[in-house]
Amino acid sequence: MIERLFAACLWVLAGSAAAAERLPIIDMHLHARPANYFGANPPPMCAPFTVMPRSDPKNGIIEGMEFNGPPCAQPIPAAMSDEDVLGETVAAMEKHNIYGVVSGEPAMIAAWSARAPRRFLPAIDYRLPGTSGKSRIAPKPIEELRDLHRRGQLTVIGEIIAQYEGVRPDDPRLEPLWALAEELDVPVAIHMGNGGPGEPYSGGGYRVAFGNPLLLEPVLARHPKLRISVMHAGYPLADSMRAMMFNYPQIYVDIGTIVYAEPRNAFYSYLRELVEAGYGDRIMFGSDQMIWPGVIEPSVRAIEDAPFLSEQQKRDIFYNNAARFLRLSKEEIARHHRM
Ligand SMILES: [Zn+2]
Repeated sequence: MIERLFAACLWVLAGSAAAAERLPIIDMHLHARPANYFGANPPPMCAPFTVMPRSDPKNGIIEGMEFNGPPCAQPIPAAMSDEDVLGETVAAMEKHNIYGVVSGEPAMIAAWSARAPRRFLPAIDYRLPGTSGKSRIAPKPIEELRDLHRRGQLTVIGEIIAQYEGVRPDDPRLEPLWALAEELDVPVAIHMGNGGPGEPYSGGGYRVAFGNPLLLEPVLARHPKLRISVMHAGYPLADSMRAMMFNYPQIYVDIGTIVYAEPRNAFYSYLRELVEAGYGDRIMFGSDQMIWPGVIEPSVRAIEDAPFLSEQQKRDIFYNNAARFLRLSKEEIARHHRM
């Protein structure tokens, strides 16, 4: 009995030591969202999706869509209240020793930052309504962004969600934003990848083609000092992404959503292609947690379990690449590794 108790104590001690020693992770793609962001009764999430979107138009593309089910082994429930979105996100971050770039609207970002000031790096969503008029939120005036920057509340300008509005990255209306980011020397992060399933029919202006990384070329030609992260890594357009990463060596990518939502082998072959092409030092971990905080854990596990990554490559993706992209100070990096 005593032996068993002793063994149990050792196990507990080993467990807490492992938690204490867990090396830090930077999540480049967290959102501060209200629980009703996707309506009143958001469905649970499968990580990864068990069925990719499929529709027969006679039933309505979105209304009749089969997607994300029948039931996955471990459905991840949406958080039920604003407090739960925040509380469950912070709990997952503490469990996995995550520091996170969190974007949203300024009032909510302030509330989140107040809850866990050392865990969150504040960012800002940027929408540019196109012709669809779907966006409920007007674009931030440039002066507001300057003010956030003055107050130290602008680690990143992004997520730039223009693709959902049918706005191309090289749209002239985004020009003042690129110029500001360059002037302030603040990194930008832009959505380039899939929308929701059936997104082009959801009432917005989303177009697949506007997620092509090649569309950043005129922007980067005009703004060579822009520090830019392509969110969702331009998935699944690996050819374009590689061409851009070679010729524009300042581009980084994050793996938000694709890390947990895509079928595991599909995600791994995309990640592996970018790593084997030599870009393992510019790929950053990101979950794209919105209102399903439970997706953070399988996202972390997807990198931990990737059989083709060395321990060093995992550390680079989890932390080192983001620390370099964000230009974290030596002191901040040391603090992350101490906590
Ligand atoms: Zn996105």
